[in-house]
Amino acid sequence: MKLDLTITPIPNHLENSRWPVQIAGPCSAESEEQMLDTAQQLKKMNRVSYFRAGVWKPRTRPGAFEGVGEVGLKWLQMVKKETGLHTACEVATTEHVELALKYGVDLLWVGARTSVNPFSVQDIADALRGSQICVLVKNPVNPDLQLWIGALERLNRAGITQLAAIHRGFSGFEKTPFRNAPMWSIAIELRAICPNLPIICDPSHIAGIADLVPLVAQKALDIDMAGLMVEVHNNPGIAKSDAQQQLTPSAYTQMIADLCLREISPTQQEARNELEEYRRDIDNLDDIVLQKLGQRMDIARKIGNYKKNNNLMALQLNRWEQLIRHRQQMGKAMGINPEFIKKFFELVHEESINIQTEIMNGIGK
Ligand code: PEP
Ligand code: MN
Repeated sequence: MKLDLTITPIPNHLENSRWPVQIAGPCSAESEEQMLDTAQQLKKMNRVSYFRAGVWKPRTRPGAFEGVGEVGLKWLQMVKKETGLHTACEVATTEHVELALKYGVDLLWVGARTSVNPFSVQDIADALRGSQICVLVKNPVNPDLQLWIGALERLNRAGITQLAAIHRGFSGFEKTPFRNAPMWSIAIELRAICPNLPIICDPSHIAGIADLVPLVAQKALDIDMAGLMVEVHNNPGIAKSDAQQQLTPSAYTQMIADLCLREISPTQQEARNELEEYRRDIDNLDDIVLQKLGQRMDIARKIGNYKKNNNLMALQLNRWEQLIRHRQQMGKAMGINPEFIKKFFELVHEESINIQTEIMNGIGK
């Protein structure tokens, strides 16, 4: 399948930047001071094109901070006036669209909880008809590529050509080290279907914690994504939403300085450092090892509950001896040092027994 969308590039408003477009700013607009201070620090980098801030926040449970509303749009206007940064906010209803257009927001995005709903997306597209504005569509929370494409198509048919997708990861049942499983293959498939559509990565909502954001951002650049949207707050510790995943402006600056922008032309690609390739392979394998260890510990919890209900001992010595023997034999067949295998599984087993005994004694769950 190929989809022919009419696309015009999203301007980066920078002079001669060959860098992917950078959209940065807090998860939520909270106060005039927070907005201006964050924006001024970001402006100093001379690399950020759009200052983002959520003004209406889709929250899982009622009663959580639902955004400041219209006044946040005034703060975005002020940020633009004071720093020259272009501005971006999320829209989820026709009323949001009307207000964002009224206040001259430069770029809008449709959130992951909205892009799941074709009725809402169509309403937004209809409200945007006739306006020249950049619109980004986040992937729906569930890993449904057709739904994502459908939302992009609805906006394109309403005349929005400064259009891009945002990859922010997917909710799932499998445990992963991330808040939202990246499932990179879905974003890659989207690019294969719509080759001219820019895809921007949102490493913040994929990672879920600040420490993992750079790693996800690097991966996005490694697969040639067209930009990054990153949550940056002048004081993440007191943020009213997504506190754990927001970077300080200085951490963001450091991340951008550390990111490696790789070459795409074949000759340079051939010359690419072999060691870096190996390291990326190692990183991918470690992701899998961590995911599998998480699943193994989940099963240890189930075993703990079973043993508790059946009044069985946590440690079953013969099972343990047999397990180590088998793992060592398998490791040996794969050329892995049996002493290492023994140490590794002793550690894994010890943790597993800890989990089980905590459950059996009513401490863990
Ligand atoms: C956000 O960008 O703050 C947001 C609400 O994101 P998402 O729609 O990806 O959850
Ligand atoms: Mn957020």
